[in-house]
Amino acid sequence: MLRRTKIVATLGPASGTPEALEQIVRAGVDVVRMNFSHGSAADHIERAEMVRAAAKKVGRTVGILADLQGPKIRVRRFEHGKIELEPGDHFILDASMDGLGNQQRVGLDYKELPNDVEKGAILLLNDGMLEFVVDEIRGAEVHCTVVRGGILSNNKGINRKGGGLTAPALTEKDEQDIKTAALLKADFLAVSFPRSAADMQRARKLMQDAGGESLLVAKIERAEAIPVLGEIIDASDAIMVARGDLAVEVGDAAVPRLQKRMIRMARERDKLVITATQMMESMINNPIPTRAEVSDVANAVLDGTDAVMLSAETAVGEYPAETVEAMARICLQAESDQEGGRAGYNPSSGEFSRVDQSIAMSALYAASHFDVAAIVALTQSGSTALWMSRVNAGVPIFALTPVEQTLTKVTLFSGVHPITFNPARSDTPSAALIDAEEELVRLGLVKNNDLLVMTVGEAIGTSGHTNTMKIVRVGDHRKV
Ligand code: PGA
Ligand code: MN
Repeated sequence: MLRRTKIVATLGPASGTPEALEQIVRAGVDVVRMNFSHGSAADHIERAEMVRAAAKKVGRTVGILADLQGPKIRVRRFEHGKIELEPGDHFILDASMDGLGNQQRVGLDYKELPNDVEKGAILLLNDGMLEFVVDEIRGAEVHCTVVRGGILSNNKGINRKGGGLTAPALTEKDEQDIKTAALLKADFLAVSFPRSAADMQRARKLMQDAGGESLLVAKIERAEAIPVLGEIIDASDAIMVARGDLAVEVGDAAVPRLQKRMIRMARERDKLVITATQMMESMINNPIPTRAEVSDVANAVLDGTDAVMLSAETAVGEYPAETVEAMARICLQAESDQEGGRAGYNPSSGEFSRVDQSIAMSALYAASHFDVAAIVALTQSGSTALWMSRVNAGVPIFALTPVEQTLTKVTLFSGVHPITFNPARSDTPSAALIDAEEELVRLGLVKNNDLLVMTVGEAIGTSGHTNTMKIVRVGDHRKV
């Protein structure tokens, strides 16, 4: 059984050796996420090489996602590393403080905070563990009363409930890091905390200027992003349901519904979607997931997500490979319980704007209503595979391409399986289709008498020229 839902795993000390990386790739990782909050450009390049070496060794195609740090809306450091606050305590977030923090006050990486808040604003620290209410602003000092106390340690993040912090999504460091992402040929670039489509357009411009071709992922994690979700999705290639920060900004209980809405909106707009954060959190320290985590992963699959993501579980957890294995197993079962095929495709939605898109959608329509074993797309850019994958036809989509970059890009597409295929051997579309069929038989992915829906372009080897759909029965070409 081929798994349709893709697994994104974050690289970190627990998965950062060639051996550990090989293990998680073997366990089923499709995309490795490199967190650009940690490490230098040279580190990132070295890690990318390590990911590619591990993928090659295991014999799987693995994509690379570079995740930008984004604005640092954080407290600075404390004299003793941390303090403990009680409800009712007064505490000052001090943008002018240079030294180390203490029980009364702490410095801020984010100097704009005093301008962004007013009396009555609610600030949430350390992923919402602590809650402060703002009493007054005195110059660069934000005076607060602690509502919910706890431990506050070095460099913990600050969110404002309901949003409203003005920090731009792309910092100077991010601009440099986009160049690094382009240099190491990241397949995906994730922008942290975008507030608008303009933030994504700016990232795209910087990526283009750097000569990179990464697909752009908008991390939806700010309250401000929700009312303009459609525009942000249109300006991106993918979104991430970044439940960690999003839950702090909009309230945790609002997230499940938003997750469903985001997944639906992304797919309707021919975009990709990753569901992220705390999916298998307890497996950081335990060899099996909780019942709630099993349900969470399965529900994301049932919602129609392209990919599910692991963060600390694979970055610093004790059981990285076991976590990936468990996640893969849960996805597979949820997929087999999901309705595909006839239930999937709604032929009345939308107009098509391109020939290749119309062919892709025709293939999808046929596969949704006819008992075929697979869809086979001979593709250069991967576009046809993307369109075919936006609705679940209940059959695998094999993306056959000679283009390395396309192979690693489709790693994030739900239900799409990358296969290296060089049509240079074939001089006509029908010869190319026969070669493709034979290759799939050789790989054991299809068998004699299976029906396949295949797409190809007359100008083989050029992008955007798919203009042919053919339904073939495997083996029939040998009979004529
Ligand atoms: P992060 O983003 O892990 O980079 O914070 C994901 C999230 O906020 O959920
Ligand atoms: Mn986040």
